Amino acid sequence: MNLLQNISVTLMLLFSYLSSLNSTIFNNEVNQCTIPPELQKEIASYKTVVNRIIHSLLVGDLQNTTYRRLAEFIDKFGNRIAGSENLENAIDYMLNKSVELGLENVHSEEVYVPHWVRGNESAVLIQPRYQNLNMLGLGSSVGTPVDGITAEAVVVDSFEELENIAAHVYGKIVIFNERYISYGETVKYRQFAASKAAEQGAVATLVRSITPFSLNTPHTGWQDYSDNVTKIPTACITAEDSHMLRRMQDRGERIIIKLKMEAQTFSPKLSRNTIAEIKGGEKPEKVVVVSGHLDSWDVGEGAMDDGGGAFLSWNSLVILKYLGLRPKRTLRAILWTAEEEGLVGAQAYVKAHKNETQNFNFVMESDEGTFTPLGLKYTGIPDGKCVLEAILSLLKDINTTTVEEPADGGPDITFWLSEGIPGASLLNRAESYFWYHHSAADTMDVEDPEALNLATALWASVAYVVADITADMPRKPGQFL
Ligand SMILES: [Zn+2]
Repeated sequence: MNLLQNISVTLMLLFSYLSSLNSTIFNNEVNQCTIPPELQKEIASYKTVVNRIIHSLLVGDLQNTTYRRLAEFIDKFGNRIAGSENLENAIDYMLNKSVELGLENVHSEEVYVPHWVRGNESAVLIQPRYQNLNMLGLGSSVGTPVDGITAEAVVVDSFEELENIAAHVYGKIVIFNERYISYGETVKYRQFAASKAAEQGAVATLVRSITPFSLNTPHTGWQDYSDNVTKIPTACITAEDSHMLRRMQDRGERIIIKLKMEAQTFSPKLSRNTIAEIKGGEKPEKVVVVSGHLDSWDVGEGAMDDGGGAFLSWNSLVILKYLGLRPKRTLRAILWTAEEEGLVGAQAYVKAHKNETQNFNFVMESDEGTFTPLGLKYTGIPDGKCVLEAILSLLKDINTTTVEEPADGGPDITFWLSEGIPGASLLNRAESYFWYHHSAADTMDVEDPEALNLATALWASVAYVVADITADMPRKPGQFL
C-alpha cells in the first residue's frame, strides 16, 4: 500500500467513525433484533478500538504480520502430519514464539494421536495401455503386499451402481468415479469406498478425488474401515484419470491396474494441543476461544489447511497483546493437533475441560480457508446473531458484515456448538478452497497477505469485543447478562 492509499484509508476510517452510531441501530432495526439499547450503545462505543485494529493491520505497523509469520512457519516446517516428528517440532516452535511475543499461560496439553505413514506408492494402468496414474493413498489405508496388487478394475459412479454389479466385483479393483456435488455430500465416497467394495469381495479401491476442479492433482484425506470387513488398500486418483477409466470401460475395454502401497499404521503417538492466552482483566475465568489446527496432511505444505486458520487465530492474540488490548474475559488461542485424523485433539480437549465448559462464552474456529473475508458463520440462538451483527457493523469499512447460519459449524468446535455454546467460523470467499484441499497444491502461494490482513482485523476485533462487552453471548432468548 502506498502513501496515498494510506491517507485514504485513514480518512475512510475517520469518516465512518463519525457516522457509526446510527448505522448500528439502523442495521439491527432492519434485522428486527431485540438486543437492549444499552448493549447496542456499548457495542457502538467500540468503533474507535476496532478502527485502530483495522488501521494497524491494513496500513500500520502490523500490516502483513499474519502472512509473514505464517510464511516463516510454513517455509521452516512444510507439511505436518499427526504422529510425525515434524509436527512436534512445529508445536515447540509455536510455544516458543508465543512466549517470545508476550502471550500468557503458554502451554501444551498432551493427547495420543494416530500414526499413519504413507511410504512409497504407485498406481499403473497396464491395460488397455500403459500409464502412471497420479495417486495418493488415503489416511489409515493398509498397504498392498510388497509386489503390489495387479487386478482387473471395474468403474462405478455410485454406491448404488456398486450394488447393481455386486456379482462382478470379486477379486477386482473398484474405481469410484462419483460426481462431485459438494464436499459434505461427496466425501462419503472417500470415507467408505473401501468398506463398501470389500463387502463385495474387491481387493482394492481407487476413488476420484473429492474436488470440483482438477489440474490432474490427487487429493488425499482420512477414510474409515467399517468393523467386520476386510481392510483393503484404498487411494485417490485424479478426476481426469477417473473419467478416462470410465470412458474405457464404457467402450468395453478391459482395464488392468497395478497398485503398490507401503502404507502402515503404527501405535498411537503422543502429540499436543497448543494453548496461549491473554488473561481476562476482570472475569479471567470466562473464556473466548479462537482456534485452528496445526497439523496437516503429508502432501503440499498445509499452508491453507490449516496454517492460515491457525495463524489467523494465534496472530489475532499476538496483535491484540501488542496493541495493549486486554479484554475483561480471557482470550484463549487453541491450535489443535490431529484434526485430519478425526478431530482427535479437539475431542481430547473437550473431555479434559468439561468442567470449564459453562464458562466458555464464545468459540471461534477458522478451518475453511483464509481468502477474502466476508463475515462470520454463526451457530447459536437468534439473540446472539443480533449481537454479532451489531459487532460486525463496526467492520463495514472492510466489508465483513455478513452473518450466515450454516447447517453445521466446526469441525473442531463442533462438540461445543452441539452442546449449545455459541460460536462462529470465518466466512470467506472460499470458492477455490477445495481446488487445493489435501493436495500437493496446498502451498504458501494460496495465501494472500491482504486477505490475511482483513481476516485478522475481523477476527481480532470480534474476539476482543465479545470478550470485553458487559453481556455474555446469550444462550437463552432475552438473556443479556
Ligand atoms: Zn482443516
